[in-house]
Amino acid sequence: MLSGVDDYKTDLEAMEKGADDYLIKSELTAQLLERTFRYSLKSKYLEAKLVKLAHHDSLTSLYNRSIFNELLIKTIQQSQRTGQKIALVTLDLDNFKFVNDNYGHPAGDQLLIKISQRLKHSTRSSDFVARLGGDEFSLLLKDVKNDSDFVKSVENIMDIFQEPFQIDNKSVSVTTSAGIAVFPTDAQTASELIDNSDRAMYQAKALGRNNYSFYNQKLHQEAIVKHQLELELNAAIDNNKLLLHYQPIIDLKTGNITSYEALLRWPDNKNGFRNTEEFIEVAEESSLILKIGDWVFKQACLQLNIWSEQGITDRHISINASANQFNSDDFTELVKKYVNETPDFAQKLTIEITERKPLEITSNIQIRLKVLSDLGIKFSVDDFGIGHSSISYLRAFPMDSIKIDKSIIQNILKFNEDLALCTAIIALGQALSLDVIAEGVETEEIANLLNSLDCPYAQGYLYSKPMPL
Ligand SMILES: [Mg+2]
Repeated sequence: MLSGVDDYKTDLEAMEKGADDYLIKSELTAQLLERTFRYSLKSKYLEAKLVKLAHHDSLTSLYNRSIFNELLIKTIQQSQRTGQKIALVTLDLDNFKFVNDNYGHPAGDQLLIKISQRLKHSTRSSDFVARLGGDEFSLLLKDVKNDSDFVKSVENIMDIFQEPFQIDNKSVSVTTSAGIAVFPTDAQTASELIDNSDRAMYQAKALGRNNYSFYNQKLHQEAIVKHQLELELNAAIDNNKLLLHYQPIIDLKTGNITSYEALLRWPDNKNGFRNTEEFIEVAEESSLILKIGDWVFKQACLQLNIWSEQGITDRHISINASANQFNSDDFTELVKKYVNETPDFAQKLTIEITERKPLEITSNIQIRLKVLSDLGIKFSVDDFGIGHSSISYLRAFPMDSIKIDKSIIQNILKFNEDLALCTAIIALGQALSLDVIAEGVETEEIANLLNSLDCPYAQGYLYSKPMPL
């Protein structure tokens, strides 16, 4: 019995020793593992640090010249596959020597760091920014839709030099000259692109510094002009410089005004107006078209409000909208915003959709039009008869009226084809219960003929030019 207890004790001691050994062994293993892990972490960290040192400029942490050149070659290869343009921008500070001479080299270094930070901030994450050495920087701009986007990006870069830099409690101003070369328009290889971007930068210096220049200035002139126009248009909208002129739509049977088409006008400085088609095209290529749409809707609702206060309740307003405006939910949302404020205005608004740029027939666009149509807003196909999708519009969208293009109306007395086309469109309108409006009516003879063809509505200089109300 006693020996049984001793045996048990011995067994217990052996087990405890075994457990201790086990614990010692596992601790040793853990320590070993930890050391290996730390070592591998350290080597990974060192590796990352070495890669960073090899790829980045030690002062500014931007890419250095060698990695930037590699990235440029890779991006060019990508661009050859995708067909997308890229731009190489070379920047050289204009008066950096002055900073070094007057504030000292440490201040010069601080300035380069601050410029680097602003450059990173002003570009998109997909763009590459490098310091090539001294006061020379390079940027590779990718993923742009059109040439005016390059201009916009370069303007953003130039803008970072507008504000002085704070160095050691001192305000230091510095400007830059920038040269831009675009692949594949200006060069076929990476080295050619670098050379041409450099040449463009020297052109900018020769232009008087604090300037940018495209390698092929002539080629990019249009983009520069468009960008300038976009800036001016943006300012014109913000400063309420745009106007709406209204052209009446007449009931041909009674001669009464039933509606007004609101037409956008932008006065210039010489008592005239800027070319509407030109600035609308620029607006459509940018997001300004939505801002304009917002402004036009607001003005139209203000006008409806004025009439309603004057007791005039039977007048309608037509507003022009382009296909681009229906490509996102934004336009529908903004129309809903105005209409929700005064729901009965919805019944008095028509949106004219021009056929010049076709509206894609997709379920999303159909839903957007349906949402607005359910609010009471009417839709009209503008410039009917000259585009490509008129008939399909009528099937796909909730249309209420069609406006026969003025090029047909103005020829109905001259050419049988135009008369036949006009007659057929009026019959089409009757068959589909759509109102038909003849555009560009300038003579009594044409108005009388349209009336005899049972065209219900007309618009044109015979009645009135677009005028302020
Ligand atoms: Mg129109």
